[in-house]
Amino acid sequence: MGSIQFLKGIGPAKAKLFERLEISSIADLLHYYPRTYQDRREDAPNAGLNPPSLVVFKGRVLRVQSIPARSVLIFKTFLADEKNNQIECTWFKKRSFHSLRFDPFAALKKDFKMNAEIWVIGRREKRNDFFDNKISVEEYYPAQATDTAWHAGRITPIYGLTEGLSNKQFRQFMQEALREADAKNQPDILPPFLTEKHRFLASSQALRAIHFPNSLAELENARARLAYEEFLLLATAWGVKRTQTKVAQKDYSYEIKKHLLTPFRQNLGFEFTNSQKKVINEIFADLQSPLPMNRLLQGDVGSGKTIVALSAMLLAAENGYQSAIMAPTEILAEQHFLTFQKTLKKLNVPVALLTSSTKTAERKKILAGLKDGSISIVVGTHALIQNDVQFHALKLAVIDEQHRFGVKQRGKLKEKTAKLDLLTMTATPIPRTLALAFYGDLEVSTLTELPPGRQPIQTRQADEYQAHHLVAQEIEKGRQAYIVYPLIEESENISAKAVSEEFEKLKKVFPQFRLAMLHGQMSRSEKESIMKDFAAHKTDILVATPVIEVGIDVPNATIMVIENAERFGLASLHQLRGRVGRGKHESYCVLVAQNKSSLARERLSIICQSCDGFKIGERDMQLRGPGEILGTRQSGESEFKTADLLKDKNILQWALQDRDELLTKDPLLQRPEHAPFRKRLQELYQKNWHLIDLS
Ligand code: ADP
Ligand code: MG
Repeated sequence: MGSIQFLKGIGPAKAKLFERLEISSIADLLHYYPRTYQDRREDAPNAGLNPPSLVVFKGRVLRVQSIPARSVLIFKTFLADEKNNQIECTWFKKRSFHSLRFDPFAALKKDFKMNAEIWVIGRREKRNDFFDNKISVEEYYPAQATDTAWHAGRITPIYGLTEGLSNKQFRQFMQEALREADAKNQPDILPPFLTEKHRFLASSQALRAIHFPNSLAELENARARLAYEEFLLLATAWGVKRTQTKVAQKDYSYEIKKHLLTPFRQNLGFEFTNSQKKVINEIFADLQSPLPMNRLLQGDVGSGKTIVALSAMLLAAENGYQSAIMAPTEILAEQHFLTFQKTLKKLNVPVALLTSSTKTAERKKILAGLKDGSISIVVGTHALIQNDVQFHALKLAVIDEQHRFGVKQRGKLKEKTAKLDLLTMTATPIPRTLALAFYGDLEVSTLTELPPGRQPIQTRQADEYQAHHLVAQEIEKGRQAYIVYPLIEESENISAKAVSEEFEKLKKVFPQFRLAMLHGQMSRSEKESIMKDFAAHKTDILVATPVIEVGIDVPNATIMVIENAERFGLASLHQLRGRVGRGKHESYCVLVAQNKSSLARERLSIICQSCDGFKIGERDMQLRGPGEILGTRQSGESEFKTADLLKDKNILQWALQDRDELLTKDPLLQRPEHAPFRKRLQELYQKNWHLIDLS
């Protein structure tokens, strides 16, 4: 099946609109599943599907009225529904020169003839609660018309639209696409042995049913089959990738020389924990193996992942290779950069920082250094994966806080790092099945202990007055404090303003102390100098947005006040709290919260009771669902269209097993009966991710 322009009624202009929804082929359209459904059946047995203000009925036209008023034209019709209630529907049109010559209601008049039967879908007019038999019409369909069966009198699909495309048009085009698919008699994409094994609906049936289900049961069957299909496709893509990388052995090797690693260890000022030693050994073994590394390092906030990564990067440097570490925010990248500079000062290893706010001249210099190999270690944000960044000998890539990167960015990085050693790090524990499905075949290392001397952080809820009192107490003891305000409406801009206002107020609350402010709208040099001043204890209180959530490391800071704590998720609260308790002093986290929902109350009590990031992560997964945890929601992209990671855990399990069976039988999907599956795999992943190469 080809381009969407082959469908009746879709020309270049319409195709452009579909392009915005990333639909360019008929197959794309068929796999563009409804956002939701409405029960528009005659007696709507499952009206719970519908929004409360929605009115759906099949009525008979009692009378019509056309009222010319001064500036508007009004068309009014009264219909009787099955129970003989009278319902009033009204349309307005602006009077215009045009309307003198053409009746703007001509089509309505033709459809709303006396006694005509018409399906009406509309909303109760809110302003007229007393007369809820007045509605504003959203869609209507003459009952006799041939097309009506797709729009009303059934469970009706509602699509995610873009301006210029209506649900009605969407359903019509979808019908065309389904007819086209039937006519072409598309083979089922699932390998036949799997369709048989699970007794799924056939592909064509499942697609028809996900768009135009005859019952909720049929819809659920279709959804299960399509969810399985999605899991299987993704898992297989990773599986094929694995087969291919196994074939592609590294064309470089490592030798442990220690001329950098030994002085590095000696200068650290502390011993590695046993857990760090074990993990470093695992990573070094991967690096020395002939196959590319794909390892996920999990470790709670503060467990010391950075030093582990840096050890691996130094091993690369010892061997004359370049390495890169990519962080999700500029602040974190800057923080790493400062740590690296400090730790490597005596070692003479050239380090650079590359983010989107790196000035043009400096950027040019860095790009040149990366290309000629004079820079060994580069720290950065996604600015590192821009097309013009080229390396002389990049052999090791580290992704910090990797769950915070979107799918596309991860894909892009995979592409860049196809033949590299890859280390990903996260403080959010991910169940193994999910990790496999999301990040492909990987090994997992876990830091199971925190560096010695860490005390659990005393966490409690308090009001603002108590919070300020505690802050003053700590500062008088010679310690430092953070006061954090939430992001407002996801916008750093508005948040910056809000935090500036709070900052002014706090200066009056704490006239005796030195306050500084940090937010995402500041320039890099500003941020850098504020962080340096705070680290050097030139300021006492850092007032900030959650930009400081990851990475900031000041052992003398012992109290973290989180304002509007009810607005933060569990993972964020835990990360923020992790900014304190980094030195030898007892540390505190104070949560100031207003209007708590029951969910917020639950989150706050979990955070007060536990300092164990893995336990908190598990509870978070239960409360929010894995989609959010994995960052697919945050980044506005969803990896799965129908699959629901919590609900479909078993389906995911089957898919992973079946994937292994399939690839054992046919590692590169070359058998003729697997051709349709292979083709879909290519459509999906070759285009978007360059993840696999089946050409
Ligand atoms: P995270 O795992 O959250 O990224 P970091 O790497 O930022 O943690 O480490 C947190 C702090 O612990 C840093 O100040 C780091 O220098 C320190 N640290 C790391 N390992 C040790 C250790 N073995 N002993 C003492 N302090 C350590
Ligand atoms: Mg970290």
